[in-house]
Formats: sequence, structure tokens, C-alpha cells
Amino acid sequence: MYQELKARIASYNAELVAVSKTQSNDKIVALYEQGQRIFGENRVQELVEKYEALPKDIAWHLIGHLQTNKVKYIAPFISMIHSVDSIKLLNEIQKEAAKNNRVISVLLQFHVAEEETKFGLDYKEAVELLETYFAPQNNYSSVRICGVMGMATNTTDKTQVQKEFAHLKNIFTQLQNTYFGLEKDFVEISMGMSGDYELALQEGSTMVRIGSLLF
Ligand SMILES: *Cc1c(COP(=O)(O)O)cnc(C)c1O
Repeated sequence: MYQELKARIASYNAELVAVSKTQSNDKIVALYEQGQRIFGENRVQELVEKYEALPKDIAWHLIGHLQTNKVKYIAPFISMIHSVDSIKLLNEIQKEAAKNNRVISVLLQFHVAEEETKFGLDYKEAVELLETYFAPQNNYSSVRICGVMGMATNTTDKTQVQKEFAHLKNIFTQLQNTYFGLEKDFVEISMGMSGDYELALQEGSTMVRIGSLLF
């Protein structure tokens, strides 16, 4: 299952984030032994415990909502934060990354689904955030914005899901053209989960976050 899925994702030049939330360390190690190195978690405490217990060459991604007061616990080791949805959070990541002499890669999370509950920015809020990020008087040298992330509506309506992924891709392209020019760091579109990763890959995903299908 794992090797097949990985090959399928690789054929789109995308990467697999194995979402290991709620999974035991043994199950994570089993996947690690098959070659998986990127794992995603959505809760800080669980993430820190797993980081401490598991091999140190795992690249840990935080994919769930992040409270500013918890950034300090993951700043020493986190590889990527997918869920930046405010300037306040970006500021805190900058501060804690600098303290640890690190540059932390982040994605801007967008709200593209119909559900009210899902976190994320809209385009206008992202513009405001990026104006701040790029303002010459501000220093964001310890945080690197690498792309966008989003979740589609949880529905069996494929057309709806496809539309939302296309919308996220559109946002990505527009931001890339407007703000990042030739900067080579802004390249990631994190979209697609167990139920919709095929559609996401077809719509240009560079990172799929898959949990239940894998474990
Ligand atoms: C849990 C989770 C996933 C993985 O969901 P599955 O349906 O188990 O593949 C992906 N992204 C986020 C943000 C999640 O919280």
C-alpha cells in the first residue's frame, strides 16, 4: 500500500506527508522503516512527545491549528508549519525561530471550504500579512513562507472539491506573481487528504497529507 501510494504521488512530483496523529510510535516506525521521513501532526503536545521518542531524521510537519503560546515548544525542531493564519502567529514563529537560530518554513493556510469551522485566511487577509512580511522595516529573516495550504469541503461532490482545490491553486499563482517573483522558495501547495488526494494531485498539489488511508 505504502510503496504504491508513494509512487503514485511521486508521479505528480508531489510529496507525501504521512499524517500520524493518534497513531502509535510502533506504527510510525513501521512506516519509517519503509522509507517515509515526513510525518504530520496536528497537536503540539503529541508532536513533542513523538519527536522525543522517534528517530531524529524525521521531518515533522505541524498541520493543525497552532496557538501562539505553543510555538516555543516546537520551534527547536519543527520542519514545516502548514497552518499560519495570522500575522500574530507569524510574528511569534519569527521570534522563536530566531531564539533557536533557525529558519522555519511555513505555509499560509487558506479557507477554501464551505464549512464555517475550518481555519484559514482569505485573500485580503493574506495580502495584509504579506505586505507586513515584505515591508522593509520588518525583519522576518527567521521565517520562510514557502506556499499555501488548504482543506476542501468534506463532501462526496467531486465537482465542489475540485473547484476548491482549483481556487487554492489560483490563490497560490496570484500570490506567487504578485509577491514572490523569481524567489524560488514559494513553491508548495499543500492540499489533498485520504479521501480527495487524487483530485488534489490533478489540480496541482505538491504535498498531500494522508492519514487514515496509510495507517
Ligand atoms: C487529519 C488531517 C489530515 C489527514 O486526514 P486523513 O483523512 O486521515 O487522510 C490532513 N490534514 C489535516 C489538516 C488533518 O488534520
